[in-house]
Amino acid sequence: MTTSDRGGIVDLRSDTVTHPSPAMLKAMYEAELGDDVFSDDPTVNALEERAAELLGKEAAVFVASGTMGNLVAQLGHLGRGQETMAGASTHMVNDEQAGHAVVVGTSIRQMAERADGTWDLAELEEAFRDPNDLHEPISGLVAIENTHAHSMGRPLSLDYTHKVAAIAQAHGVPLHVDGARFFNATVALGLEPRDLAAPADSVSFCLSKGLACPIGSLVVGPKDFVARARRGRKLVGGGMRQVGVLAAPGLVALSDGPDGMIDRLAEDHANARALAEGLARLDGIESAGGLAQPEPGPLDPGRVHTNFVVFRVRRDRAQFLEALRGRGILMVEYQHGTIRAVTHYGVDATDVERVLAACTAALRETSSAKAAAAATAPTT
Ligand SMILES: *Cc1c(COP(=O)(O)O)cnc(C)c1O
Repeated sequence: MTTSDRGGIVDLRSDTVTHPSPAMLKAMYEAELGDDVFSDDPTVNALEERAAELLGKEAAVFVASGTMGNLVAQLGHLGRGQETMAGASTHMVNDEQAGHAVVVGTSIRQMAERADGTWDLAELEEAFRDPNDLHEPISGLVAIENTHAHSMGRPLSLDYTHKVAAIAQAHGVPLHVDGARFFNATVALGLEPRDLAAPADSVSFCLSKGLACPIGSLVVGPKDFVARARRGRKLVGGGMRQVGVLAAPGLVALSDGPDGMIDRLAEDHANARALAEGLARLDGIESAGGLAQPEPGPLDPGRVHTNFVVFRVRRDRAQFLEALRGRGILMVEYQHGTIRAVTHYGVDATDVERVLAACTAALRETSSAKAAAAATAPTT
């Protein structure tokens, strides 16, 4: 898939805009099917086995989305009235319609995050509830996000994951990793997936992001946990039937062969770094602030570790994005007044050059935020 297949548009809004590779489309066409609620869809079974093997866990369950993956993981780990500890900026806290409360019947204790996406581990220690105090909920789960989106897609290290897991384990609480972009983390850190997954009880990861599949996520963990998550999947209407047709591209993505999508993520990371380096040279582009780059000043390409570039523009943001759109380049508004660009399958180094040229032109023709505000202000 190249930009020419998309009418010349370079769509950097997200890595969820990826289209399946020719090998995936062929695998979908040829997929052997069954009824997955009866557990007899051979392609789904093969995908679940492959995911479990790759991450070194006993079992896996195929679900429709990353959100459903986190939801059924919570259903697998938690009972009503329990509490999860999760980072304040994370997807589980902000972007899942409080499914933990609506469906699972649990609360979330939000942990403060540092600029590298980690927590102060002394604060984690303190966040566990006293099970002997009748007032308090029961701590039931620790959840971390890897890569950590709001810190510009930082990979959380193996050492940090081990430390969080040890603290959780000492309190008898499991660790879940929301690994929507788990393989971006393993590739950036140069780790085998099973090694980064080892400290965690469960991991969910998306097929539909950088791995370029049209749909799906997997949740991996111990057999009994996966059995409960599978029950949870049926509860939320996620029991899918002749679904090998959707599992087939996942098997391609997770394969070791030349059609596999995991090692290829390194290209996305290199392209994101090149994009950030080019942007940093442009007058009018600056640090994103927030977790992505707390210190004010120029954009620091050194903070790009995976496929996210988050920055601020000293212009009216909407006008700037519109000027880019006019040149066939799509980016998206991100939190705290920033802009996010995400590299992915189908975007190559030539596209990055085109994006930088478009940004240069867009900066030139877009007024500053101040001028834009003055132009629209009432003139009484
Ligand atoms: C995208 C994402 C999800 C949810 O995945 P969907 O397939 O969009 O439901 C969960 N967690 C993180 C960190 C994500 O980036």
